[in-house]
Amino acid sequence: MNVEVGVSSADLDTDPLLTASVDQPHSSQPDEQQPVASPMTPPEITQKVNLMGMSRAQLEQFFLDIGEKKFRAGQVMKWIHQFFVTDFAQMSNISGKLREKLERICEIRGPEVVHRNYSKDGTRKWVFRVGDGAGSLVETVLIPADDKTGARKTLCISSQVGCALDCSFCSTGKQGFQRDLTPDEIIGQLWMANYSYMEEVEIAERERTVTNVVMMGMGEPLLNYNAVLSSMQIMLDDFAYGMSKRRVTLSTSGVVPKIDQLAQDIDVALAISLHAPNDELRNELVPINKKYPLAQLIAACQRYIAKDGNESSRKHVTIEYVMLEGVNDKPEHAQQMIKLLKNLPSKINLIPFNPFPHAPYERSSRNRTISFQKTLSDAGFVCTIRQTRGDDIDAACGQLVGQVADRTRRAAQWKKTVEERDVIIRTSGDID
Ligand code: SF4
Repeated sequence: MNVEVGVSSADLDTDPLLTASVDQPHSSQPDEQQPVASPMTPPEITQKVNLMGMSRAQLEQFFLDIGEKKFRAGQVMKWIHQFFVTDFAQMSNISGKLREKLERICEIRGPEVVHRNYSKDGTRKWVFRVGDGAGSLVETVLIPADDKTGARKTLCISSQVGCALDCSFCSTGKQGFQRDLTPDEIIGQLWMANYSYMEEVEIAERERTVTNVVMMGMGEPLLNYNAVLSSMQIMLDDFAYGMSKRRVTLSTSGVVPKIDQLAQDIDVALAISLHAPNDELRNELVPINKKYPLAQLIAACQRYIAKDGNESSRKHVTIEYVMLEGVNDKPEHAQQMIKLLKNLPSKINLIPFNPFPHAPYERSSRNRTISFQKTLSDAGFVCTIRQTRGDDIDAACGQLVGQVADRTRRAAQWKKTVEERDVIIRTSGDID
């Protein structure tokens, strides 16, 4: 799922999604981009075992396999994810002999940072290179709460390089799908976001800064299920980030069978990229709807909540709805939403669309968005409007990577379509 930076005007304490964002481009500010070397990433790929993305169970098995006690797993996890230490020599509660052994056969490595932008409003954005050679690029955005304390910091994490689902309003979709991210590349985004706040701080004084995570960056997380599940387990683990389950949210476009599997495997908050209140329109905006239509999707959400409805993380589903002028923002669409969601405990988040180059849509007017919100609020729904954040650093997911990594067939196809459209416009005399 691809989201854009924003904070709604209400419910700031309870909904981490309100600080995350939809995939759309902003104007880039090249002079504010800071190419950097990752503090933890040697440029060459080694054959060593990377411990960054291992869950506690996997680490315990790893230590057993190398003839060590499994309690070492918890110790090492704390060093990696609580003290942000990547050098085994600094792990002072582990014997010198074991440290040397780990040094020889293991490494702690996340994705390499190639750009980082810090906004005036506190939003931070990183572009990571993943994989070998020229690699692929993914984006991660951290959004501080738009309140006086700024205490809540929500990180929007990517799960894939590009995306196969090709939602028509999404710039990441136009890049096509390149590959799934590995667990170390997913959890490495959280590691790096925290580390960026404490690079100058002594180990003993280091504290985690990211308070909320949304799996809502580039890609569809439920199509990279195992890696995403493993990463979320590390987020919840007390030996790692120890995050509350209601502060970890997975956002999906609606991969119905995987929603049911998720309900069995882990307890986190669920968000749905809805964007349309009827099948005909959703087939156009979110093509996966042709495979899993709305009736199936809503039923899966109801099952997800029913699985453990007393737990705070599953009291409701968050509904994301990007507002597209004249497309999905009419009064009848609001009425259809009311009907569609009447039996699903949900909070609705209206997202102003940020057009990307040659996007086929425009942002709904403020008046129309407020009117849409009022209709839903009057019907009893909690409905907020997301406010954009990080505009000065191009903080919306997908855009910068889209500019840098335009290399797939779909990207080429999109470019061709745009060029053809431009020719038609020019020959019809609409522009000079
Ligand atoms: S194309 Fe992929 S990343 Fe973009 S909105 Fe659809 S599912 Fe999310």
